[in-house]
Amino acid sequence: MSMGWRIGKGQSVSIWNDFWLPSLPSKLLSSTLVPNIHRVADLILQSPRCWNEPLIRSSFDANEANRILQISLSMFPHEDVLVWFGEGSSIYSVRSGYKLLLNPTTSSINGDIFNCLWCIAGPSMIKILVWRFINNFVHTFHNLAIKRVSSDPRCPRCSNGLEDIPHVSRDCFFPLQVWNNLRISWPSGMNYETILGWLLWLFQNYDNIKHILVVTTIWTL
Ligand SMILES: [Zn+2]
Repeated sequence: MSMGWRIGKGQSVSIWNDFWLPSLPSKLLSSTLVPNIHRVADLILQSPRCWNEPLIRSSFDANEANRILQISLSMFPHEDVLVWFGEGSSIYSVRSGYKLLLNPTTSSINGDIFNCLWCIAGPSMIKILVWRFINNFVHTFHNLAIKRVSSDPRCPRCSNGLEDIPHVSRDCFFPLQVWNNLRISWPSGMNYETILGWLLWLFQNYDNIKHILVVTTIWTL
């Protein structure tokens, strides 16, 4: 994964489910989940604004605690910002995306999906786009609203839900119709909060021809 959060207020970022420690190889924390702390904001003290070091030291292993405490907090709290961890500038480039896609260390985090994706016969441009979808590096209205670029996170097609990656690529009426016409379906009731699990299921249950169809369809949606 190469998309992560730069911590501002810490309210938008889940300690356990989001990527917010760029210095950690796997990015997700491996310390045992502590039930009463959920958001990164729960680890930050106000006036003066600083990390709650005793809480962090008692909640995480020494390595992760040190890495959290190394993150500098801005004096004036701002919104949390999704940034690109692949380049020093935090700005996504096709070059860095391509490099990470080919990097077995970074790709091994979700090795199955990236192996499937990379083995599909098709233009790299399409595969990198799908990889950006998997990493939530797409300017959906939901992401733009998080960055305060847009005030309305809803889907402009249906106005019936957040326009996030799962909605754009799968859950809105339009992609649902497209998938239906292509005769590509998946079991209902599975936990598909992100498209990672959904795509993995499609890759594992359809043949190579359908793999090409899946990634090309996501590219066109
Ligand atoms: Zn919609």
